[in-house]
Amino acid sequence: MVGMDGFRLQLVRHCDSLLESGELTDTDAYDLADWLNKHDEACLKWPGEDLVQLLQQIWADKKVTQTELRRLAVLLRAIHKEWTKIQFDESMVRARSQVEALVARLPPPEPQLPEISITLPIKSHTQKGVVYNVNLAGLACTCADWRAYRCDLPAGHLSRCCKHVFDAFAQLIPRGTWPGWVGSFVSSGWIVSPKTEWRVIDVGSNRWLVSMPDGQKQWMNFYTQESEAYERYGYSTLERRWAYDMPPRGANKLLQVALARCS
Ligand SMILES: [Zn+2]
Repeated sequence: MVGMDGFRLQLVRHCDSLLESGELTDTDAYDLADWLNKHDEACLKWPGEDLVQLLQQIWADKKVTQTELRRLAVLLRAIHKEWTKIQFDESMVRARSQVEALVARLPPPEPQLPEISITLPIKSHTQKGVVYNVNLAGLACTCADWRAYRCDLPAGHLSRCCKHVFDAFAQLIPRGTWPGWVGSFVSSGWIVSPKTEWRVIDVGSNRWLVSMPDGQKQWMNFYTQESEAYERYGYSTLERRWAYDMPPRGANKLLQVALARCS
């Protein structure tokens, strides 16, 4: 049995197929009306009810004019647009519940971001009108930085995050939702070199994400959550000092464990 949503989907597909040709004909209008006549259920709800209303007006004088066919085409395009929006909204709802469901398993014991099944359009920071598609299942973006430097890293690798991936996280994950280093990392928006490698270390009751120092920069970044607040600390291995002279609590032990994991 086909449910209400099934009929709606059939109808939207029918409308889309009519838009594929450049111009609607009176046969198209007739076929559409015929389909609606045979599917009463679909006429009670959007987009069926909008179509029935217009088709009734079109046939009120028993003939179909070019102007009326144009009005029908305008309505079909509006239906297509609305349908795309509904689909996007539904995928956002599904992705948000995935974000919530993941909380129980976070922060992960490995330096790996969990998958969220959604692709989001993200505006370029620098070029007006340019939009990139960010896929949060495996972490991918269509921007030049991502395609040139980050695409070969394994799926879920933290260094696959370009600035647009962070934007997508910001849209989808309300600050404070994800606990521990993973919440701190996704909300930090801190872009790292694609060569950065990561470790997760447990020190006392705290789990930390640590970026290993890379060849040029010699800075290590430490992410965690401490009494509700997301924290990120930087440490220079070259100068042997914490950024802004602000070491985390238990800094010596933390460094010792982190440096032992470097090799
Ligand atoms: Zn990007």
